[in-house]
Amino acid sequence: MDNIFNLNEDILKVSDEVEKELEPIFKKLDESCLRASSKVLKAFQDNHVGTNDFIEVTGYGYSDPGRDKLEKIYSQIFGTEDAIVRPQIMSGTHALKITLFGLLKHGDTMVSISGEPYDTLKSIIGITGDSQNSLIAHGINYEEIPLVNDEFDYDAIKDRISKKSVKLVEIQRSRGYSHRSSICIDRIEKAIKIVKEADPNCIVLVDNCYGEFTEDREPTEVGADIAISSLMKNLGAGVATSGGYVVGKKDLIHLIAEELNVPTVGKDSGANFNVLLTYYKGLFLAPKAVNSTLKSMIYASCILEKFGFETYPKYNEPRTDIIQTVELQTKDNLIKFCQGIQEGSPIESYVVPVPEQTPGYPNEEIMAGGSFTPGSTIELSCDGPLIEPYTAYMQGGLTYEYGKLGIQIALNKMLQKD
Ligand SMILES: *Cc1c(COP(=O)(O)O)cnc(C)c1O
Repeated sequence: MDNIFNLNEDILKVSDEVEKELEPIFKKLDESCLRASSKVLKAFQDNHVGTNDFIEVTGYGYSDPGRDKLEKIYSQIFGTEDAIVRPQIMSGTHALKITLFGLLKHGDTMVSISGEPYDTLKSIIGITGDSQNSLIAHGINYEEIPLVNDEFDYDAIKDRISKKSVKLVEIQRSRGYSHRSSICIDRIEKAIKIVKEADPNCIVLVDNCYGEFTEDREPTEVGADIAISSLMKNLGAGVATSGGYVVGKKDLIHLIAEELNVPTVGKDSGANFNVLLTYYKGLFLAPKAVNSTLKSMIYASCILEKFGFETYPKYNEPRTDIIQTVELQTKDNLIKFCQGIQEGSPIESYVVPVPEQTPGYPNEEIMAGGSFTPGSTIELSCDGPLIEPYTAYMQGGLTYEYGKLGIQIALNKMLQKD
């Protein structure tokens, strides 16, 4: 094959070895992809999707069969009573915000049982920032039960929930950008069981960002009352260009829809801004996009390890999200690797990212992402803070081939002598 990108011969040789080694792992991923695809295809068929479901509905959007059907399909896939999937939900953060404000009232208590939550959730809660509109500013109590050695503290959870004064428990499945492991579905299932045994009325919310279709079951299939995420991540598959979803129990979804829209109106209004075709198509392609991303990240983990870098997760470890980290050891490596990811992208490959002090972040950060949708993280992207051990956080890859090329180009740039 022509070496169009002038890659170092060493990389190409090691790459061939890596792909041989990964064959059995990739085969397992393809079996999972088939299972997820079957679920999606069946939901499309059971709900009689037609091309007339893709039309734009403007104005108040009081009647939108295509929107309602899409939400039925999400419910079927997640095994829930109801769903809300809308362009009016701007992001995963916004989905969390409407969920928490829809379900919690003055005096209620929320407990995060997976330790410190995702950065943007901290400002919704009011443990960072100075917003007068945070949960805490609205009189909601917040508590945290830290993870112990990356595991739930099951005893502490049981003790706390047994006191019956907890309205809602939050679990974050993916590590996001924190230094902990992501939490697999088996463990989420065990924690939910303990919560429900201690208090059946306690609502369990799972932040499902980056998790969808990485395992064969979703949190709502193991007892979660509500799950949320962004469509700029797994389920949008790079086709949906904005939006988010909340799936779960009918009465809870109604309260959340009232928070998003208007009390009493709930889910019954909201123009679709002509996004339905992209939402349907994104969902249809999502099992494959997640499969490609997982393969790209496992490939990255394996090849970077062969070149002497510490990676997490290891290529042969089980996964419950699409995030890959690698310790690049030096500042120069981190900068060059991110620049290489940008160079290997389809969009703005000619732009050279440089480290920058970003407001709200304690350290200088470098970010690379030549994606069709700005900020989309199901498309290949990479970033990291400029502190030891110079860890790059990577995710995405809409096809394995583009993912692999991006990683090869980044590795090549990093290994090049000036
Ligand atoms: C990405 C993410 C969010 C927020 O989603 P946005 O769409 O970026 O607002 C929340 N929680 C976790 C774990 C995430 O990975």
